[in-house]
Amino acid sequence: MKNLLEGAVLGIYEELVAKTPGACSCESCREDALAYVLNKTRPRYSGGTDTGMALIALDLQKDQTRAQLAVIVLDAIQRVAANPRHPKR
Ligand SMILES: [Zn+2]
Repeated sequence: MKNLLEGAVLGIYEELVAKTPGACSCESCREDALAYVLNKTRPRYSGGTDTGMALIALDLQKDQTRAQLAVIVLDAIQRVAANPRHPKR
């Protein structure tokens, strides 16, 4: 059920990567960016209990949470764009 957060992050990523000039959204860049985001967000969303998951679900409905995630996602997109695992196109 950690996919709840991943799903939200992926949605935000796809929204932002389309708007970011020079960002690459190929599979490896997307993987890198998502790994970075999930790494950063994991401490906040730790705990695999049902209660924890319910809190995440509730939290992800909030604009504030999505805005905070968007900041991290944008940071990840820029980091990956600056240092992709493949030559720049
Ligand atoms: Zn790429």
